[in-house]
Amino acid sequence: MNRESLKEQLERLAAPMALGWAEEKGRVRCVACGHRCLIPDGHAGICKVRFNRGGVLYGPRGYVAGLQDDPIEKKPFFHAVPGTRALSFGMLGCDFHCGYCQNWVTSQALRDDAALASARPISAEEIVVHAKAMGALTVTSTYNEPLITSEWAVEVFKLARNAGLVTSFVSNGNNTEEAIAYLRPHLDLYKIDLKGFDDRRYRTLGGTLQNVLDGIERVFKAGLWLEIVTLIVPGFNDSDAELRGMAGFLAELSSDIPWHVTAFHPDYRMLDNGQTPARTLLRAYEIGKAAGLRYIYPGNLPGRVGDTESTHCPHCNALLVERVGFAVQGYHLQGDRCPQCQATIPGFWHRAETLPRLQRSAFSSVRRVAF
Ligand code: SF4
Repeated sequence: MNRESLKEQLERLAAPMALGWAEEKGRVRCVACGHRCLIPDGHAGICKVRFNRGGVLYGPRGYVAGLQDDPIEKKPFFHAVPGTRALSFGMLGCDFHCGYCQNWVTSQALRDDAALASARPISAEEIVVHAKAMGALTVTSTYNEPLITSEWAVEVFKLARNAGLVTSFVSNGNNTEEAIAYLRPHLDLYKIDLKGFDDRRYRTLGGTLQNVLDGIERVFKAGLWLEIVTLIVPGFNDSDAELRGMAGFLAELSSDIPWHVTAFHPDYRMLDNGQTPARTLLRAYEIGKAAGLRYIYPGNLPGRVGDTESTHCPHCNALLVERVGFAVQGYHLQGDRCPQCQATIPGFWHRAETLPRLQRSAFSSVRRVAF
């Protein structure tokens, strides 16, 4: 579908949004993300999916661009219900425009004619029915930036929670106080991409470093279960200084925040930077440890980073959750405690009734949902 007809389709699916208000001269202020766009009548915000129609803020709902049943480790969450499945729904558009986006076909669909994505109408009830039918324990808003459709996510999450499911966001962290207050009652898990520690480079992606750091702090202080991912891109954010900056910031907030340092492969508009070698991930691991972080997970190179993909007790080094890639191969926690030294391990671990599910779903494949 071309950009114009996609835009028209999303406008037909639009409804008034809660995260904003009317300002003078017919303008509206959107506060769903850190851009806090002031939008004149007849125009859209930076994300291109939220717009002002007659002095009212509108945004799309009631559709998905992708619906897929993934291992929760793929989000990635390693300290949240390991070995279970997450029904993942993605929308269109983004408030950033990262040159190495691995989901650019949907995230940049409103900006780039080469991104040929489409919107498929679906109700919140149907998403929850799919999640239950597929044996998923979590429903996740992911693939594009979920903040820009926070109201739709809450619509889905309310029903998901009622059905006994866990809810999660996979986000760039460019959030606002208002968005976190709005999401908090309906959300359990929040993953943030920390893309570097250099404001000048952050601005080339469409954001600012400070708002993402503030966003991480907001999520942590709101008490949501938080994990951080840094996709390490050679020549972009892989210097010791930059890795130390990120690790130091996280450790100061809490040494218990898991930090995933994952390997890049050339994608979208960043085709000249080579793949991230395993030794760079292991260097990031050592830098994270030296900064005081307890849980650092090199990712995207399964089997090539020693036993760092697994979770060990930081006190006695007992093996707690054994992983290769997205596959959980052993689970030894007792509740939230190390079975050997009884230390409490931070996380959003299994409720007792979900444990049998682990046995059924300890595989790493991805299943697309036909609907
Ligand atoms: S979601 Fe962000 S980019 Fe989109 S209109 Fe709102 S403030 Fe602007």
